[in-house]
Amino acid sequence: MSDDQPDSAPTAPVELPTPTTSRPTPGQLTFRAPRRGKPPRHLADFEPAERKGVVESLGHQGFRAKQLSTHYFERLVADPEEMTDLPKAVRSELVHDLLPTLLTPVVRRQADDGQTMKYAWRLHDGAIVESVLMRYPGRVTICISSQAGCGMNCPFCATGQAGLTRNLSTAEIVEQVVWAARALRHGELAGGDAGDQEAPLRVSNVVFMGMGEALANYKAAVGAIRRLTDPAPDGLGMSARGLTMSTVGLVPAIDKLAAEGIPVTLALSLHAPDDELRDELVPINTRWKVDEALDAARRYFEATGRRVSIEYALIRDINDQGWRADLLGEKLNARGRGWVHVNPIPLNPTPGSKWTASRPGVEQNFVERLRAHGIPTTIRDTRGQDIDGACGQLAAATA
Ligand code: SAH
Repeated sequence: MSDDQPDSAPTAPVELPTPTTSRPTPGQLTFRAPRRGKPPRHLADFEPAERKGVVESLGHQGFRAKQLSTHYFERLVADPEEMTDLPKAVRSELVHDLLPTLLTPVVRRQADDGQTMKYAWRLHDGAIVESVLMRYPGRVTICISSQAGCGMNCPFCATGQAGLTRNLSTAEIVEQVVWAARALRHGELAGGDAGDQEAPLRVSNVVFMGMGEALANYKAAVGAIRRLTDPAPDGLGMSARGLTMSTVGLVPAIDKLAAEGIPVTLALSLHAPDDELRDELVPINTRWKVDEALDAARRYFEATGRRVSIEYALIRDINDQGWRADLLGEKLNARGRGWVHVNPIPLNPTPGSKWTASRPGVEQNFVERLRAHGIPTTIRDTRGQDIDGACGQLAAATA
């Protein structure tokens, strides 16, 4: 490769047809992602211990691995021009081989006075995924995607209705956070506390609540968790406490995650305390029942000491009855005290769905009934609704 033609710079996006994924039939579950061309290999796909060998196999000296990791994870740099500690020829080769462009921004939309930003990315094969960056006083949260589409087919979720296109690679997941970290450094997000102004803005929280069921893409998702929490310069050096893994309740994967030794917070998308309704709202319930999912959540708490979060989208006249709040409270208390809190989410509207959010009084009653059982309960603040960036609205409509 010639030195003055670094082919590492973001290449012009190749126009590929948008992948079509057939819409799932009601209740259908898809675990295996369709096979597609693999995303290009990237530094963030490799564990720190593997990187020296990879760099050597590409014909470079092993210590370049550390330099490259420092540029990417610590300095957030992927532009060879900025890697002045590397000889020019080496830079462009290494960047070409290990820091290829994985995400091409196609849409960037703001909401909440610039404090929420939704990004849609095109991946190498034309698949589109989204991430949402949200600034709160004292913290910045990014909601990331782990799959293009989702195979879990929850009828109230726009992503679920679109079906599964493919799994993301570890680096494609990590890159969403690195992009956000760079955007913050460049002051792309407004708002925050007056006291925040001085401190450099950092991504403090990462939630796996964008597109996809991350535990159905287990290896890549756990790889991403490791890259996010590995100390710099091997990784981004985030605290595991700032990460939340959200799942429909894939019981064996929850147990596996508990054994990884990385105490991320677990969020379980319950949405109904009884099997009859949950079978319909969260089709995975036909595999692992409410009680099995709650038992796994409790085991997760015991293994990690992290309080589990129960997500409950409140859907008008569907799952918002007082008796369901009571049943939920009883089932949680039957498994102990102080291990769990409930996070009701007012349903966000999705195209074509007849369902809508609960009436405010009903929502309040639901919350109070849970609190009366001693369950800490907080309504989730929904950001980005007007840009289809809120929970369940990510469907990669880029128009
Ligand atoms: N696959 C993961 C991540 C999904 S998104 C999971 O199921 O947990 C994060 C949360 O948003 C989940 O609890 C999901 O059920 C919820 N959600 C999906 N669609 C929604 C909608 N239209 N309104 C409110 N919450 C929704």
